[in-house]
Formats: sequence, structure tokens, C-alpha cells
Amino acid sequence: MKTSQIIIKNALIVNYNEETHADILITGNKIALIDRNISAPGAYVIDAGGKYVIPGGIDTHVHFALPTFAGLTADDFLTGSHAAIWGGTTSVIDFVTPLHGQSLVQAYLQRQAEASGALVNVFFHVSPIEWTENTAQQMSQLVKDYGVTSFKVYMAYKNSIGIDDKTLIKVLETAGRLGALTIVHCENDEIIEYLRDKYYSQGKTLPLYHPLSRPDEAEAEAIGRLSLYAKSLDVPVYAVHVSTEKGINIIRQRQAEGVQFFAETCPQYLTFTDEVYDAPFVEAAKYVMSPPLRKEHDRDALWEALGDGTVSTIGTDHCSFTNDQKAMGKDDFRHIPNGAGGVEHRLEILFTLGVASRKLTMQQFVQLTSYNAAQIFRLKGKGMIAQGYDADLVIWDPEQKHTISVENHKMNADNNIYEGIEVVGQAETVIIGGKVVKDQGQLFV
Ligand SMILES: [Zn+2]
Repeated sequence: MKTSQIIIKNALIVNYNEETHADILITGNKIALIDRNISAPGAYVIDAGGKYVIPGGIDTHVHFALPTFAGLTADDFLTGSHAAIWGGTTSVIDFVTPLHGQSLVQAYLQRQAEASGALVNVFFHVSPIEWTENTAQQMSQLVKDYGVTSFKVYMAYKNSIGIDDKTLIKVLETAGRLGALTIVHCENDEIIEYLRDKYYSQGKTLPLYHPLSRPDEAEAEAIGRLSLYAKSLDVPVYAVHVSTEKGINIIRQRQAEGVQFFAETCPQYLTFTDEVYDAPFVEAAKYVMSPPLRKEHDRDALWEALGDGTVSTIGTDHCSFTNDQKAMGKDDFRHIPNGAGGVEHRLEILFTLGVASRKLTMQQFVQLTSYNAAQIFRLKGKGMIAQGYDADLVIWDPEQKHTISVENHKMNADNNIYEGIEVVGQAETVIIGGKVVKDQGQLFV
């Protein structure tokens, strides 16, 4: 019988805190040994000479098979997994959004079943969208019986899944008591909804009114308000997809005061500015997402925040739509489904714009793409290359170049916001749970 052992030879292993030249022995689904000159008769040997070996990427923020007013998003758990693997991501955290009146536990079990076809590890943030007499008990059950470590709430979208501040405070306090983390979409709903309707009623229907109706102050105000609650209740919080300099400045200040305020940003906010909205509909609509793309000073501030540790994680907010779906908002920017795909490109964009451009070290790259996420969301066995950890890892070729294109991407949508960008660095080999799932330009799933 063939052994289930793999040896990765000549690895330059990069963890969050050190770089080590060694071999890695994988037995079953675990990292069994890290040492010089490992030999194991019958093991499958991969030579990683000249390459980095990094923990498998963890994308903290994806929406696969998300039901929306424009139908299901373009990537389901299978195509989303393919794209994730291709780009070096081995774990994703998706979302459980119940219907009004539905139990959080029931919604969690249903979502878990929907994700059963996934080829990567899938974890969930669970969203209380209302406060009922059962909510606290359901949150407790999710934490204790199902290992949920995070709850997601929306300060925006109050007319659907968003919550008012009274409910927000209850969720924050309950999650804190349970030792769970509340993660928050921070935008001031009132002014955004007002501006959206105002622009539309003035005949301003183009995609470029999307960013204009979601000013940076709307994000900063909500971040500030959340930080007040976090400080007053003494609970940890995490702002998803932070996009503005003003928001970053508040978070940095609160962190200095000792508030446990974690921040996530996304590759798109590190890559583009709002200039992309000044384009014909099909092109501009691709970039309609919330929060919207911002100004150059915001992008610069985000890079600085990655460098100094204010921002801990990079999630893609992967939420892909086809051009047909985007066209629903052809005559009304309010009806363009919000979101874009990116799960495939997270590591290569961060490597190209960060590491290869000397803004980030390899260790910071590992912190931002896997280690910090594993720590913050307590994903046991993830985020490190060390003995006893899960054998989820990536052999990263720092020299390989390619141009991102809808012609050859693995994501399912017929558009790509990164179209035409040349990236350097590529996941050459990807191993999940001790199984080689990508190698030399081929998927084995
Ligand atoms: Zn999202």
C-alpha cells in the first residue's frame, strides 16, 4: 500500500515570526516533523528549492452561493474553492445569514449543508439580524456546541439585515460574555440611504453615484461609534473591510488606548481608487461594492496600517456577480448588486504590491494572509507550519509572473476587477489536509 507521507525538501519555511531552512514531513493530514534531511522510505517527495513554504492562506471574508436580489452570486462553494486553491488559499470564512424569524442554529446547520461541496476548509461568521428572546441562547449554543467564534453584524442595510444600535450593543455584550468576537460592517446607514435616494430622484443614476452616496465619513463615524461601544462594554470588536484613512486613524487611536479593536481590509482597497467609476457602465459596475473604492490617500493609509500592524487581516469580501447580474442596475445604480470576486488573487496581489514592492516582509505577508486570522478566529491547527499543525500549506514561487484575466481565471464570473494586472508570485503547490490539491499548474480535486 502506498504511504500517505509527503516530504517537502529544501523548504524555506516562513512563519509569522521566523524563516527556517528545513524539510517538512507530512503524515496523514498533519505536519509530523520539521528537520534537516528528513528521509522516509516510500514518501512522495516534493522539492521546494528556491521557493517559500507558507501556511495555507485563510480568507477571512467570502460570500459563496449568497442569495441576493440579483439571484445567487456567481461562485458557489465548488467554483469558489477551485479559485481559492488556485491562489493559495486553503481556508475561507463565509457567513450565516438567517431569515427574519429563523433560528441562528438552524440557519447555521443549513449553511453548513450548502457548503458541503467545498474543497477548502470552511468556517462561518454567524449574523444575528434581529434580537429576540432566543437570540442570546442561540448564540451560546453556537459557541458551545458548534465551535463558532465570531458573530457578524451590519450597521448598514437596516432595511434588511442591518441592526439598530440597541441590538448591536446586546450582540456585543452577549458575544463578549461567550468569549466570541463581534465583527462589524461599519457604515452609517441613515446618511447613505438618504443620499442614494436623493441622487436617484435627481436623475443621477450612474455607477459613479455609488461611491458619492457612501462618503468616507459614513465609515469613520460608524467605526467611531463601534469603538465607543467596545470600550464602554470592554469587549473585542473587528471591523470588516476597512477602506478609509479616517477609519484607520480612529482604530489606531483606540488600539493605543487599549481597546481590542481588530481591523480587516481587502486587496481591492489596496489596489484601486475611485477613478475606476469614471468609465462606461459595464466597466464601472464591476467595481460597485460596499464600501466603495476610495481616494489615493486612503489607499496609502491602508498600506501604512498593514505595515504598522493596525490592520491584522486581509479578506477579499469575495462576492462575485456576472455582467448580466450587474446590468440590473443599468438605469439605477441602487440596483447594481454589490460585490466583486477576488478569492483567487488575494495572495498574489498582496505579494506583488506588498512584498515585491518592499512594503511588507515575508513574515508580515504570512501574518496578514493566514497567521493573524487563525489567532483572531481561533482556528485550531491553522496558520503555522509547525509540528502537530494541520498540513495546509503552500509552496510559493516568488519569481513566477502572470497577467490576471477573465480568460484564464478560475472564478466563475465573466468579469474580473484585476483584469490586465501583471502579478509576480504564485502558489505552485497547494496542500490541504495532507493532500496535494494543486501542483505545477494543475488542480487535483
Ligand atoms: Zn462581505
